[in-house]
Amino acid sequence: MADHANRIAVVTGDITRLDVDAIVNAANESLLGGGGVDGAIHRAAGPDLLAECRGIGGCPTGEARLTGGYRLPARHVVHTVGPVWRGGTAGEDVALASAYRASFALAAENGIRTIAFPAISTGIYGFPKERAARIAIDEGRRAAATGAFDRILFCCFSEADASIHERVLQQMPGG
Ligand code: ADP
Repeated sequence: MADHANRIAVVTGDITRLDVDAIVNAANESLLGGGGVDGAIHRAAGPDLLAECRGIGGCPTGEARLTGGYRLPARHVVHTVGPVWRGGTAGEDVALASAYRASFALAAENGIRTIAFPAISTGIYGFPKERAARIAIDEGRRAAATGAFDRILFCCFSEADASIHERVLQQMPGG
């Protein structure tokens, strides 16, 4: 268990630069691109990513879909859709946990052993950062405990976000 927990790390930087089996995209239900990390991933991957996404036909909130990584160093992109924050009583926690869980499940089914997540829903979608970090790290621990992953990275875009994730990682049992 402790060994598996050690496979989780928080990193700061641009997720599009990471050389892992898969990076996760905080997409929207259309899967046709958008702002934030979604825009950055599509820009870095090139137009073939959008072409593949068009063929998928969207993704409901809390689910995940797999594509190639094209010009990214990552071999694959797991596109998931987190919830829009509506005050916390509209099932946002469950939907965010579901987005992480669906991403891990799809990755494991496809033999992905190293995976990096952005802080899903905490940008344009407005989910409170620490609350989201608790859910992300809790799901990361569950996934690590299965033994399906060698490396689970939480890639934060700012030092401030990384320190929130580091703190949650240290606080939670098994950290
Ligand atoms: P959402 O719509 O799910 O809220 P956003 O893309 O707006 O998604 O934000 C999700 C998180 O991704 C935010 O913490 C944002 O700072 C971060 N982010 C934006 N660009 C990048 C990037 N290139 N690499 C890693 N994280 C990023």
